[in-house]
Amino acid sequence: MRQFSPNTFANFPIDKAGHHRKDPLWLADALAGGSAQLSLFHKGQPFLLEESGASAVRSVAWLAGAARDFAGRDPLTLFLGVDASGAPHFAVEAPGGVSESPLAGMGQFEDLRGAAMQLSAADASLMACAKALFEWHATHGFCSRCGHETQSAEGGWKRECKACGAEHFPRVDPVAIMLPVHPHPEHGPRCCLGRQARFPRGMYSALAGFIEPGESLEEACARELQEEAGLVTKEVRYHSTQPWPYPSQLMIGLIAEVESDALTLDQDEIVEAVWLTRAEARAALSGGLSRDGKSIWAPPALAIAHHLVKAWAEEAE
Ligand SMILES: [Zn+2]
Repeated sequence: MRQFSPNTFANFPIDKAGHHRKDPLWLADALAGGSAQLSLFHKGQPFLLEESGASAVRSVAWLAGAARDFAGRDPLTLFLGVDASGAPHFAVEAPGGVSESPLAGMGQFEDLRGAAMQLSAADASLMACAKALFEWHATHGFCSRCGHETQSAEGGWKRECKACGAEHFPRVDPVAIMLPVHPHPEHGPRCCLGRQARFPRGMYSALAGFIEPGESLEEACARELQEEAGLVTKEVRYHSTQPWPYPSQLMIGLIAEVESDALTLDQDEIVEAVWLTRAEARAALSGGLSRDGKSIWAPPALAIAHHLVKAWAEEAE
């Protein structure tokens, strides 16, 4: 599978085989078949195996079809796709957990964000897809048009309202995440990282905001930089995107050249911002740098912000 993106959760590793979604008989046979691979979810968390020894390595518990017996009657089942060997992959909601099942002791339900960097890239991507779908199902049980209950359909990729006939599809909420950069002719290029009050001590990141209705990606980028930091955008470059299932964002990474490095911070959003040279940005990515007695570090590789900063920091002068 071609790798389009450096980002965790991107690069879905199997064929989504979307043409099977509209075929309930195929889906039922695939789920009951011997090659079916099931992952279990409970309250938005995937069931991961306990690993002995190598604590930094985690893996998804891909279970044979019988695992659905532990999930309770008529659980929500998502069809994820078919791998290269032809094995269909599913994710199943286990409403009661597995504490009373034979799976008890094999592993546990865990927060995906905490475990993501210890999973294989393939497992992380599959679990992010399943998590985003489960989050959507959990909050779309009723029709937004008429208020009646809706039912999952097409392997979990749609909800249908029998009362009014409306079809509802999983939502994706685009977020612009941008690294402001300035050529700074006198002192050399700088990038700007900002701190939100909720960030861990010393962490500075790219700026971000939801794209609003009626707005292009570039306009959203320019508006957010103006609102949060008083920066005027001159040119916007696309870098990459990252699915971010908390609950349904698509992070769209941009590098934005701004006209001036003068900052006017909106303290409700950004409590502090710093301009870094490429060398300083590289230091912030790998352990942090010290300035005026303060530690400055960039987000870890789980976050698209890390890859934005890295891409700019490694550009030739
Ligand atoms: Zn309806």
